[in-house]
Amino acid sequence: MSEGERDAEQQPATTLVTAGRRAEWTQGIVNPPVWRASTILYDNVADLKERQKDTHHRLYYGRRGTPTQWSLADALTELEPGAEATLLYPSGVAAVATALLAVLKPGDELLMVDSAYEPTRALCGGLLKRLGVTTRFYDPLVGAGIAGMIGENTRAVFMESPGSLTFEVQDVPAICAAARARGVTTLLDNTWATPLYFRAIEKGVDLSILACTKYVVGHSDAMLGSVTAAPSAWSKLRQTTYQLGQHAAPDDAWLGSRGLRTMGVRLAQHQASALKVARWLGEQPEIARVLHPALPDCPGHETWARDFTGASGLFGVVLNGGDDAARAALIDGLRLFGIGFSWGGFESLVVPADPAPLRSAVPWSAEGLLVRLHIGLEDPDDLIADLAAGLARFRAAAS
Ligand SMILES: *Cc1c(COP(=O)(O)O)cnc(C)c1O
Repeated sequence: MSEGERDAEQQPATTLVTAGRRAEWTQGIVNPPVWRASTILYDNVADLKERQKDTHHRLYYGRRGTPTQWSLADALTELEPGAEATLLYPSGVAAVATALLAVLKPGDELLMVDSAYEPTRALCGGLLKRLGVTTRFYDPLVGAGIAGMIGENTRAVFMESPGSLTFEVQDVPAICAAARARGVTTLLDNTWATPLYFRAIEKGVDLSILACTKYVVGHSDAMLGSVTAAPSAWSKLRQTTYQLGQHAAPDDAWLGSRGLRTMGVRLAQHQASALKVARWLGEQPEIARVLHPALPDCPGHETWARDFTGASGLFGVVLNGGDDAARAALIDGLRLFGIGFSWGGFESLVVPADPAPLRSAVPWSAEGLLVRLHIGLEDPDDLIADLAAGLARFRAAAS
C-alpha cells in the first residue's frame, strides 16, 4: 500500500498487519522474506551513477539495507504519524548511541533524564564525555521546568518515559515544547510503550528510539534497535548512521518484522495480565508500593493517563521491609519468572533493581528494595500463585 492510499483513520492494529508490505519488496510473499546481500550488481555505469544519487530504499550496497530492513523500518515509520523515516541498528544501545551522536558535537551540553537506562547513562560518562560533550542529569518529573535548565550550549534533551527501572512518567509534550522554543533537539527512548501506546513524533519528539529487542521482536531471540525521525532530524540521523556504518542484519530485521505483526495482540495481553498481577501485588502486605504507570502510586501516573493509550508488561514493586537475602529468597524460588535482563518477550522475567547509585539529580529514596517484573503471556493466575509463594518466602526470610 502506498502512502497516498492509506486511510487517515486507519487503526494501529490494522497498520501492524499492512505496513511495510510493498509489492516490490515482498514479490507476493506475505511477510517480506530475508534478502541477504553485500554486493549489488548494476546493469552498467549509468545505472551505478543513477542509484548513487539517492540510496534510500534503493539496492546500492548491503550496508544500506535490502527490502527486508526497509520493510520493517517503513512499518515503524507508519506507526508514528508525522515521522519522516526510520533506520535500524544492531541493538537498542546502538540506536541510542547513534541518535545522540547525530545531534551532538564537542562543546555541546546534553540534558539527560536521571532515570535513564543504565547503558544510556554510561554513554554520557564515557564516549560522550571523551568527545567533549557535557551531560547534566535532570529530574524525570521536571516537565515544563526543563526550560530553566536549557543554556546557551544545550543541544539536546533525552527522555525515557516511563523509566525502564523506576517507571516515572515524563511530561514529554511539555519538555518538547520548551526544547523546540530554544531550538534544542529532543530524543525519547520509547521502548516501554512502543508507538502503539505512545505516538512520540506526534507529541513533539524529534528522534524516537526503540530497543526492538523487546516488544517488536517479542520472542527473546534477536537483538535490534530503531530510530524514527521527524522531518527536522532525518538528514542528520541518516548521515551519522551511514558514517558509523550502522547496519542491522537481514535475518534479525526479519525476526523484527515477523514479531511486529502480532505486537498488538501480544501487548494487549501483556497489558491485561500485568495490570491484574500489579493490582494483586498492591493488596499484599509485603509490598509497600507498586510502580506501574497505569496505577496511581506511580510518579507521573496522571501524565500516563493523559498521553498514553495503553501500558505494557513491565513494572516494579517496592518491598515492605526485608533485606537483600529476603529479596533473593523471593526471587530465587519463582518457578515461572526467569531471572534475566531484557524483557518484552513472551515469557515472564524478574530482576532485583538497585537504582540509588545510578541517580545524581534526584536521590532514589524508596521505602524498601525494588523488584522489577516483566509479565509474559502465561496465565496471570499462575503467575499470581507463583508470586504468592515468593512473598511467603520473603516474609519468612524477613522476620
Ligand atoms: C533494553 C533497552 C535498551 C537497549 O536495547 P538492547 O537491544 O538491549 O541494546 C534501551 N533502552 C531501554 C529502555 C531498554 O530497556
